[in-house]
Amino acid sequence: MSKDSGLGGSGSAPWFKQLHWQIAMGIVFALIYGIAIRTIWPLAGAADPDAILAIWNNAAAPFAFLGDLFIRALKLIIIPLVVLSVVTGIRNIGDASSLGKMGLRTVGYYLLTTFLAVLTGLVVVNLIDPGVGLDLGFEAGERIAPKPLSEVFANMIPKSALAAFAANDMLPSIFVAILMGVGLLSIGKDGEPLAKLFDSGNALVLKITNWIMATAPVGVAALFIKTLLDPKLADLASFFTDLGAYMLAVVMGLGVHAFILLPLLYKMFVRKSPLAFLHAMAPSLLTAFSTASSSATYPVTLDCVTERAGVSRKSASFVLPLGATINMDGTALYEAVAAIFIANALGVDLSLTQQAIVALTATLAAIGAAGVPSAGLVTMIIVLESVGLPAGAYGLVVAVDRVLDMCRTTVNVWGDAVGAAVVDATLPEPSVVNKSQDT
Ligand code: ASP
Repeated sequence: MSKDSGLGGSGSAPWFKQLHWQIAMGIVFALIYGIAIRTIWPLAGAADPDAILAIWNNAAAPFAFLGDLFIRALKLIIIPLVVLSVVTGIRNIGDASSLGKMGLRTVGYYLLTTFLAVLTGLVVVNLIDPGVGLDLGFEAGERIAPKPLSEVFANMIPKSALAAFAANDMLPSIFVAILMGVGLLSIGKDGEPLAKLFDSGNALVLKITNWIMATAPVGVAALFIKTLLDPKLADLASFFTDLGAYMLAVVMGLGVHAFILLPLLYKMFVRKSPLAFLHAMAPSLLTAFSTASSSATYPVTLDCVTERAGVSRKSASFVLPLGATINMDGTALYEAVAAIFIANALGVDLSLTQQAIVALTATLAAIGAAGVPSAGLVTMIIVLESVGLPAGAYGLVVAVDRVLDMCRTTVNVWGDAVGAAVVDATLPEPSVVNKSQDT
């Protein structure tokens, strides 16, 4: 795939033709542009703040438009890509017992790593203890009621498959795709014509995904500029000072999980260099960072894992779509840290048992969170309520949520990618690079 898309996964193309470098250059451009606007027209102490905000808005407008186009293009391709890759992925597994093994390993890996992430978060937040003695003048925020977890699971079975596809609803769509894949596996020869149709549809959406990915450097930069010039982040500096220790705890926890624990797992099971894998995943991680959405990043993730990192399409197309919706290490860690920070800031001392409840509910809440921006902020209410903290207290962390969302989404996607590689490596026949989609 990479040969005609100019993505340069091999490392042999000049650096500026490689997608991750192009995205990195986009991000640097966005930073320079955003900071320049904020410096030339500073909001702090401005005589007419509305006029300054209007300037920021005008400066961001063309980029907001481009960013919107990029997100729309990604959303356009998600459901066809997920459904077709799950159906063809399952059918290509060949027999039901390998499917069972892959399913068990995938779910086992997800639960284990999510729980590890939460524990890391709890250790780090207890060491840093952000929010203790902080008088943030807590105001109850707007009350958002998260869906109960039972409802999230019940909704996995859609009343209408087409309605689930049309609503870009990932879990129910994956459920339908798994049914169709397993069905095709069990009807054998009778399913061949249909399987061929799915295979060819899959090749088509992969090609379109390729085209969309080629626009990622512009899309990612545009989205980042939009965030940098968002009036909600007007007082960035003071938020960073007030909530600095809390943000540090989240970022440190995410760092330990992403740079120590996951690479160790990768090394243990895959027995290859985690650094090389990180390098191969760079376009996907940078897209996750700028979109703050695992689901929107999924097309890029699938491409990086299979084409750049050489994980078999068979494993990737089963493990990744599920991961994009239910495996959220970063979100789970973030929710645990945020709950402890909020408790500290409100002067509540959580006991060890209560922290265990936080660990458990954060794991479940992350599974229930959709792969879209701010989803984790909403499901965090489940964690707060589980230990008797007021739901409205999530208002304390809303201000810095976007920045942390970008960081945790990157870790979510990294966790999915490591999962695909680990599951692939532990299956009976470890993969070689699968080039079948290049044609
Ligand atoms: N934005 C995250 C994701 O898509 C979910 C969250 O809000 O934590 O992975």
